[in-house]
Amino acid sequence: MTETNCIFCSIIKKEIPSKIVYEDEEVMAFEDINPAAPVHILIIPKQHIATLNDLKETEEKLAGKLLKTAALIAKDKKIDQTGYRTIFNTNANAGQVVFHIHLHLLGGRKLTWPPG
Ligand code: 5GP
Ligand code: ZN
Repeated sequence: MTETNCIFCSIIKKEIPSKIVYEDEEVMAFEDINPAAPVHILIIPKQHIATLNDLKETEEKLAGKLLKTAALIAKDKKIDQTGYRTIFNTNANAGQVVFHIHLHLLGGRKLTWPPG
């Protein structure tokens, strides 16, 4: 999947609508279309990076920003104290279906561990 046929790049360009919860020059966060928990938000870089395997050393700060953005949204959604989970799925065994890295932020209910 390249930038030209990437669904999340289309969401960034607002060609596909989404419920945006945060946006700046570098990152965007929006509600997952098929939520797995009461709070299920995806935090993505505006730059197209297919998987975590493709993250360059020069992009480490951007990855950290995705995590910090998730923490700020968790606070905003008032799940920071009850707890939440942040996940990157990478490739087939983890069930990655969209090949533009996205950090899942899940919370609002008791989450089971280990995940399936
Ligand atoms: P993955 O399995 O790749 O880690 O997760 C992809 C996530 O993207 C899924 O949770 C799925 O529901 C979500 N998703 C897929 N297409 C769309 C879309 O067009 N809009 C939104 N908001 N979420 C999407
Ligand atoms: Zn993309």
